[in-house]
Amino acid sequence: MDGVSREIRLVARPRGFPDEDLFEVAEAPIPDPAEGQVLIRNAYFSVDPYMRPRMNDVRSYVAPFTLGEAMTGGAVGRVAASRSSRYAEGDWVLHQLGWREWALSDGAALRRLDPDAAPVSTSLGVLGMPGFTAWYGIFALGRPQEGETVLVSGAAGAVGSAAGQMAALAGCRVIGSAGSEEKLAWLRELGFDGVFNYREQKAREALAELAPDGIDIYFDNVGGDHLEAAIGSLRTHGRVVACGSISRYNDAEPAAGPRNMFMVVTKRIRIEGFIITDHYERFGEFAGEAAGWVRDGRLRYRETIVDGIENAPKAFLGLLRGENIGKMLVQVGPDE
Ligand code: NDP
Repeated sequence: MDGVSREIRLVARPRGFPDEDLFEVAEAPIPDPAEGQVLIRNAYFSVDPYMRPRMNDVRSYVAPFTLGEAMTGGAVGRVAASRSSRYAEGDWVLHQLGWREWALSDGAALRRLDPDAAPVSTSLGVLGMPGFTAWYGIFALGRPQEGETVLVSGAAGAVGSAAGQMAALAGCRVIGSAGSEEKLAWLRELGFDGVFNYREQKAREALAELAPDGIDIYFDNVGGDHLEAAIGSLRTHGRVVACGSISRYNDAEPAAGPRNMFMVVTKRIRIEGFIITDHYERFGEFAGEAAGWVRDGRLRYRETIVDGIENAPKAFLGLLRGENIGKMLVQVGPDE
């Protein structure tokens, strides 16, 4: 196909908080699909917190990003040309080829989307990986009982906003923390029972006010002092759903952990980490349930959409600084 496709490459590794110089916008001719391949015109791609640890040259549960190559990650787009028997021109698909305007896929890790069922962007947010993470973390690991109190950090983000609403659907009292007044206002609209701005008030003090009798479940998106405060507040047999530690992702040196870990013993607390990609056999179950909740307004969502591939590094750094409400996305092409 004639024309040029732009992509964002990682060209250096960060130490501490990353900056825009680590990325470069590169251009390449739009490729023609070979036999079995499809060419996809991307509409949106996702920027996610897990991409920050992947920028380090350290093997974790996934390999680090390769320098000089386009960043990978969740994206949605429309098949522009197909030489695959499984996908036709015009199909909407979800894929993992990430930060580029056009993507060439051999069909691996492609999922067809129904654009009439929900806006395609939601397959990267509330009805995609972040929503599934919230659902699995709350129901499979938190196992909430009616009347329990649940704390969610990063509560105005993609995962946190869904996790808090799901805990409320299970009949729990939900407390959320986030980093701005605008975010707190949205959490109140969503029905959170108590909210606090962790930049203004320490988590420990806020919990003493909002949950004087303690919490039962902590859905941890941030780690750090939130985790220590939650361990201090958890009741006997409390649970920590260890989902992420964004407050630590930019540390050049690892910080000391919560100082009160012995309480995990005395209170018989269960802390369980998980990586959502291990659990995709349950995605269908989640997708059916969550689509129903979104349709009937019981699961609400927001998206912060940054326009243009050249602004993707800004969007990613903005995510790490908390500039998003709900899911942070980059729009790089038409979405209908
Ligand atoms: P979010 O949409 O929540 O965006 C990140 C948010 O983190 C920002 O908006 C910001 O909000 C908050 N944040 C940034 N720095 C800090 C800090 N120092 N302390 C507290 N909050 C901070 O991202 P996601 O919903 O995609 O991800 C949320 C968490 O879930 C992350 O830790 C991520 O790694 C994890 N995750 C884990 C998965 C798994 O399989 N275990 C899968 C997907 C996500 P604010 O203004 O409130 O600071």
